[in-house]
Amino acid sequence: SKQARIDRIKATIRTCPDFPKPGIPFKDLMPILHNPDVFSDTIALLEEHVRETGTKVDVVAGLEARGFLFGPPLALRLNCAFVPIRKAGKLPGETVKCSYVLEYGQDTMEIQQSSVKPNQNVVIVDDLIATGGTMAGACRLVETMQANVVGCLAVVELDYLKGRDNLKYAVHSLIHY
Ligand code: AMP
Repeated sequence: SKQARIDRIKATIRTCPDFPKPGIPFKDLMPILHNPDVFSDTIALLEEHVRETGTKVDVVAGLEARGFLFGPPLALRLNCAFVPIRKAGKLPGETVKCSYVLEYGQDTMEIQQSSVKPNQNVVIVDDLIATGGTMAGACRLVETMQANVVGCLAVVELDYLKGRDNLKYAVHSLIHY
């Protein structure tokens, strides 16, 4: 069943207290990739959700760094483009930049100008939604490209941080804490 697949994914996730800083319960999702059946279920569940929404997706945009692990296999399964959204200064050519708020301070992310066309439908993928600041920044970047955010996807969401309250688009996460 779907719940059994979700439970098996959740069982592989390790919570690492005080990493990388005191007070942060870090969710280590790497064990998902250690087991091909679990990894495959993770991508399949994300794909099933996108298909259930009935919206045609042109682009899966993945957030650096762990969005790069889940985004490309999802894009392959949806038969669409994968586009990386990176920390500033990593992508060559014309880019669009956006600052976003972190727990302490701010950072800048960017996307290649030609990688998303106006009016394309974009699903944004990351490993985890905490405060939602990173995902909100990515949404603004896609808006700047005059493309449509048709969904925000994550493997894990920390519900107690209410990150989805910062997002004005449909949010879907497989696992909730
Ligand atoms: P936020 O912008 O607060 O939603 O943070 C989300 C980003 O930070 C994602 O790219 C996550 O990979 C990372 N992140 C934040 N909190 C955690 C956590 N407790 N465990 C693992 N990754 C986290």
